[in-house]
Amino acid sequence: MFKPSCYSCRKKFEPSALRVSYSKNYCEGCGVGLFGEDYFNFPPKPAPTTRKNLVVHVAVLIFGAVFFALWLSISGF
Ligand SMILES: [Zn+2]
Repeated sequence: MFKPSCYSCRKKFEPSALRVSYSKNYCEGCGVGLFGEDYFNFPPKPAPTTRKNLVVHVAVLIFGAVFFALWLSISGF
């Protein structure tokens, strides 16, 4: 499972433990050290959605089906 890392200390964190500033992730320790109270105004990092994984899964399945059909059509005639 992919875990995002803090841009400053490079440690891996759960997405919920990170906040995003200019599309860079910061953990609370680094964020408060760098930005002070501003850190708490940054939006939290959104959790990775399973929907994206599902889309990739379906795309791979369709890809496989197309190749299987192609293989059938080649070997069938
Ligand atoms: Zn950090």
